[in-house]
Amino acid sequence: MERFDTEEKCREHLRSILYPQNPTCKCGCKRMYYFERRSFFGFRCHKCGFAKALSHNTMFKQSKLGLRKWFIAIYLFTVHDQGLTSVKLAELLDINKGSAWHLLHRIRKSLHHTNLNKKLCGIVEADETYIGGKKKGKTGRGSQNKKIVFGTIQRQGRVYAKVVANCGKQVLQPIIHKKVRKTTKIFTDYWAGYRNLEGYKHIRIKHNIRMECNSPLQSKDFGGM
Ligand SMILES: [Zn+2]
Repeated sequence: MERFDTEEKCREHLRSILYPQNPTCKCGCKRMYYFERRSFFGFRCHKCGFAKALSHNTMFKQSKLGLRKWFIAIYLFTVHDQGLTSVKLAELLDINKGSAWHLLHRIRKSLHHTNLNKKLCGIVEADETYIGGKKKGKTGRGSQNKKIVFGTIQRQGRVYAKVVANCGKQVLQPIIHKKVRKTTKIFTDYWAGYRNLEGYKHIRIKHNIRMECNSPLQSKDFGGM
C-alpha cells in the first residue's frame, strides 16, 4: 500500500519492468519516447506517430480502473490463494461486482499464460539447497533438520523449485524429465543423483569452478540459442 500509493508510482514500476529501455516502433524507428496525456500512458514514435500504451499486451489493457486497484487486487489474489471471490474483492476495492469479476478473471488468465506448465528450455541449471532447521550441524548434503529444495532454472528465464524428500536419483531425475524439455543443455554438479541423466546435453561441473560458468564463452553460447 505504501510502495504503490499513487498511480504514478504504479506506472513507473510497470514501465521499469516492462520497458527498461524504450521500445522500438513497428516502423523500425528506435526512438519511441514516453508520454502521458489524459488517460493515455505509453510510448509514441517520433517518425510515424504510432502510439503504444504501457498496458499493451498486459492484463491491464483498456482498463479504466487504475493500476493501483489492479496492483492491490493482484496482491490480494496472491495472498488469498484462489479463495478470493469477486464479491469480496468488490467490497475491498470499492468497485462494482462486475468489474471485480473481470479483474479476477484477467489475473487468473494471466497467471495461466505465464505457462506454469511449459517446460524449461535453453540452458538450464539444476541444483539442490538445504534451508531451515534450527540446530546447527552439517551443511550440504545430509544436513539434519533441514528441508531440501530442488530447483531448476532456465538462464534468463523461469524457475521451478520443489521441496523434496531426498536427493536420490529416483527423486531428482523424474522432476527434471517432467519440467525440462528434452535435448536441453543442462548443468549440474557431480552429485550421484544426476548420474546418467538421459535425454539431455548434460554438463557436469565442479562446484568450486562454478564461477567459470558465467564466462564470456557461456554467454556467447547462450546468445546463439
Ligand atoms: Zn514508428
